Amino acid sequence: MNKPLASNALTENLRKAQNYLARFKNAAVPHRIAGENVVGHASFENFDPSDNTVLCQISSGGAHEIDLAARAAEDAFRIWKDVPGERRRALLHQIADRIEARADEIALIESTDSGQPIRYMAKAALRGAENFRFYADKAPEARDGLSLPTETHLNYTIRQPIGPVGVITPWNTPFMLSTWKIAPALAAGCTIVHKPAEWSPLTAVILSEIMSEVFEGAGLPKGIVNLVHGLGETAGKALTEHPAIKAIAFVGESITGSHIMAQGAMTLKRVHFELGGKNPVIVFDDADLDRALDAVLFMIYSLNGQRCTSSSRALVQRSIYAEFTAKLKARVEKIAVGHPLDPATELGPLIHKRHVEKVLSYTAHAKADGAEVATGGNRALDGKGNFVCPTLFTGAATSMRIAQEEIFGPVLTAIPFDDEADALRIANDVRYGLAAYLWTGDVGRAHRIAQGVDAGMVWVNSENVRHLPTPFGGVKASGIGRDGGDYAFEIYMEQKNIAIGLDRHRVPKIGV
Ligand code: NAD
Repeated sequence: MNKPLASNALTENLRKAQNYLARFKNAAVPHRIAGENVVGHASFENFDPSDNTVLCQISSGGAHEIDLAARAAEDAFRIWKDVPGERRRALLHQIADRIEARADEIALIESTDSGQPIRYMAKAALRGAENFRFYADKAPEARDGLSLPTETHLNYTIRQPIGPVGVITPWNTPFMLSTWKIAPALAAGCTIVHKPAEWSPLTAVILSEIMSEVFEGAGLPKGIVNLVHGLGETAGKALTEHPAIKAIAFVGESITGSHIMAQGAMTLKRVHFELGGKNPVIVFDDADLDRALDAVLFMIYSLNGQRCTSSSRALVQRSIYAEFTAKLKARVEKIAVGHPLDPATELGPLIHKRHVEKVLSYTAHAKADGAEVATGGNRALDGKGNFVCPTLFTGAATSMRIAQEEIFGPVLTAIPFDDEADALRIANDVRYGLAAYLWTGDVGRAHRIAQGVDAGMVWVNSENVRHLPTPFGGVKASGIGRDGGDYAFEIYMEQKNIAIGLDRHRVPKIGV
């Protein structure tokens, strides 16, 4: 652990990334509103997490830019909503084609901008393209409804796109998460104003370019998709308050979700929230412990631990706790920390200096509350980057801050439990409820715990493996609504019921 990694592959990736990033260096990266580049009056610095040098300046939008973008999206909606499903399907596939063609560029920029290791980001663009293809194929039937006849009326339902949608995304895996929102919204017939996170905004520029090229090439309005950069409290807030924006699809922290709900109240905004998590992985002594060990490690230390579905609490049965955590510690200490563009790197730099301070503050909380720092808890590598050691806290209790709060870094809190009831009690003793992971050889127990745990998603004897038709989202403070499959359309479309009278009933007469 902590050894700097150097390889030919890193040198080559750095060279390619510099080439791709060169275009962002000369002037502040503009917004893209109604197909035009709009340079803001203000800008902010975007940093490279591997050394904290300034990567580029980003235009900082506010109420004015959001208003321009929302109006453009409102105008474009009048046309886009009536584009037939088969055509929407073809256009979304074209977007996927162009994402795939620029996959290398997207991966290298995403990895540089976010600090996420290239070994994981290499697939980011391809997974984004997959999202577009999945929703492209759903577009022709997306608005189908039900037939609900009675003796007197033929009731039938249709779904109609809600209107312009605001998409607000976080910094951890920005490209993929943006496509999760934008692809189903476009498939439904909505138009978009996207406000990406200020700490990793660059791949949103590429996505916006790709989508604009496709829509402009098809002779469609330029305002179908719009991109406004900026801070949460200015651009983000203005987007959630804008009357032309009918719904907000948001991914980020739970507290930001609360702010957005308050900000959107006056315009009765519909919201879809994917929020924080403090997800348990529960390991029983009857499990396949080798596979469980691999999964526990992968689900907290991959993607720098900056992953909403990371299993940040390991609940381990007391009979195997000492042995299992000793094995964990040995493996954690072998995790390769290094430059995100090195394919050998397993743990890259965290997103921002401020985030490093937050993550490392939990070392002091762990000690103060009486847990043990089994390994890590401090900075890694010399130099100016945001590198931290992968960290394991043992001997923890559910009441401690390290067991309750979302740390959102490569930090695992291991808590012992006695039996099934104890495991469930601890698992549910947090405000969050996004995902849960369960390792056991007892099929009855697997179902009992899966049904009892407070989580929107449960994986049994598996790490997180996403299947696009399935619902993705959380309960409690982890979210409202679901991504995935047909579920995503619930936010982007309105249900309309149409009742046709069959002349078999008597209309009540008044005033005769
Ligand atoms: P964040 O809430 O700080 O920011 C997310 C976005 O919201 C950014 O674009 C930000 O500019 C914007 N924002 C901030 N304040 C705003 C306001 N008042 N009004 C409107 N927009 C505002 O989150 P983050 O730190 O970027 O991301 C990390 C968080 O995201 C973690 O809590 C993580 O669990 C969560 N997350 C959840 C999922 C999921 O699917 N549940 C996926 C990824 C990340």
